[in-house]
Amino acid sequence: MMRLSPRILKSLPALVDHYSRFSPSPLSIQQFLDFGSKNACEKKSFAFLRQELPVRLANIMKEINLLPDTLLKMPSVELVQSWYIQSLTEILHFENKSPNDSLIIDSFTETLYNIRKRHSNVVETMAQGVIELRDTHGIDHQADSNIQYFLDRFYMSRISIRMLIHQHVLLFSPTQETHPRHVGSIDPNCDVESVVLDAYENAKFLCDQYYLASPELDLVSHNGMKKASPITVVYVPSHLYHMLFELFKNAMRAIVEYHGTAALDYPKVKCQVSLGKEDLTIKISDKGGGIPKSAIDVLFNYMYSTAPQPPKSGSTTAPLAGYGYGLPLSRLYAKYFQGDLQLVSQEGYGTDALIWLKALSSEANELLPVFNTTSSRHYGTNIPTSDWSSPYTPRGSQNSVRTFLTYRI
Ligand code: ATP
Ligand code: MG
Repeated sequence: MMRLSPRILKSLPALVDHYSRFSPSPLSIQQFLDFGSKNACEKKSFAFLRQELPVRLANIMKEINLLPDTLLKMPSVELVQSWYIQSLTEILHFENKSPNDSLIIDSFTETLYNIRKRHSNVVETMAQGVIELRDTHGIDHQADSNIQYFLDRFYMSRISIRMLIHQHVLLFSPTQETHPRHVGSIDPNCDVESVVLDAYENAKFLCDQYYLASPELDLVSHNGMKKASPITVVYVPSHLYHMLFELFKNAMRAIVEYHGTAALDYPKVKCQVSLGKEDLTIKISDKGGGIPKSAIDVLFNYMYSTAPQPPKSGSTTAPLAGYGYGLPLSRLYAKYFQGDLQLVSQEGYGTDALIWLKALSSEANELLPVFNTTSSRHYGTNIPTSDWSSPYTPRGSQNSVRTFLTYRI
C-alpha cells in the first residue's frame, strides 16, 4: 500500500471540496470504444483519469458525509470511508507528475489496479454497515428513504469508477489478458444470446444445487428486419451477464417455489431478445406465481427479500437468493448506460422482467450522480431535484456468488 503523504492528508478536506465542485464528465460507450481501439494512448488516459477519478470520488465522498451520524459511525461504513480516503490520496499523488515519465505512468496503472482490488468488497461492506445501523439503532421511514437514495447513487458512482479504472488497467497493464475482440471490458460485437445462455446455465447450477431441480429455458430472438442474423450489441458483457444472472435466479426460484420442489416438471423460463432501431430489449418471463401489486414498489429496495437469510460468509455454496440486492443493483447496471430494468407481474400467474439497453453505442452515455447543493437537500426532504447527469430520478448483487473470469466486473 502506498504511504499517504502528510501534505495531502492534511489538505484532504480542501481537496475533496475542490474536486467536488467539478461535475463528472459522462462518457458514452462509443467514446470508450474510440479511445480504446485506435492506438490507445496511455498518457492521455493518465491525464484524463488523474482529474476525472478525483472528481468522481470527491462527488460521492461529499455525499457520504451527508448520511446520518449514526450510520457514519458504524464500523463498516468507517471502513468504506477509509478506503475512499486512501484511494483518493493515492491518485492525488499524481496530480503534478509528468505524463512523459514512463515510471510515473507505470506506477499510476499499478495504483489503479490496487485501488480496484481494495474496493472489491464495497457493496457487501456498505450493506453490512446498514445492517449494523438497523440492529443497533433501528431505521425509520425517513432514514430508510435517504439510505435507498444514497445507495443508488453510491453504487452507481462505484460502477462508473470501476469502469474507468478497469478500461485503463485492461488496456495498459501488460499483465492483463483480455479477449482479442474486446476493447478493455467492452465487446464491440457482444452476442446477446450467448450471454443469456451463460447466465441461464450458471443460475441453473445454483438452482439445482439448492432445490435439486430447475426449469428449462425457452430462448427466442427477434432481430427486427434482419430476421436470421444473431443479435449483437456494443456493450460490457460482464454488466449484461450480471443483470441476466440475477433475473434468471429470481425467475427460477419463483417457479420452483410456486410449483413445489416435488413437482415432476416445471414451466420453462422464457427469454425473448429483440432488437429495434433504438432499443435492445430482453424479457424474461416466468410462471412463478407473480408478485402482489403492493410489493412491487419495494422490490427495488436494498435489503428487500422474501428469501431466508443465506448462511454467513465462509460457506462454500453460493446462495440463490437472500440479500435483496439482486434487483436494485441490476437496475443500476441497466441505467448506467441509459437503459432500464423493470418488473411487471400478474399475481397468481407469473412475472415479466424487462431489460432495455440502448441499441446505439453513441446514445449509451454514462448516467452519473452529481453532488451539488440540491442533492444535499434530498437528505432532509423528498423533493425531487435535478442532481443526475441526465433527466432521470431513480427511486430506488453483487453477491458473493460464483463469479466467472469472462464476466469479471
Ligand atoms: P439476492 O440479493 O440474492 O438476489 P433476492 O432474490 O431476495 O436476493 P432481489 O433479487 O432483489 O433479492 O429480489 C427481491 C424480491 O423480489 C425477492 O426476494 C422476491 O420476493 C421478489 N421477486 C423477484 N423476482 C421475482 C419473480 N420473478 N417472481 C416472484 N418474485 C420475485
Ligand atoms: Mg435475487
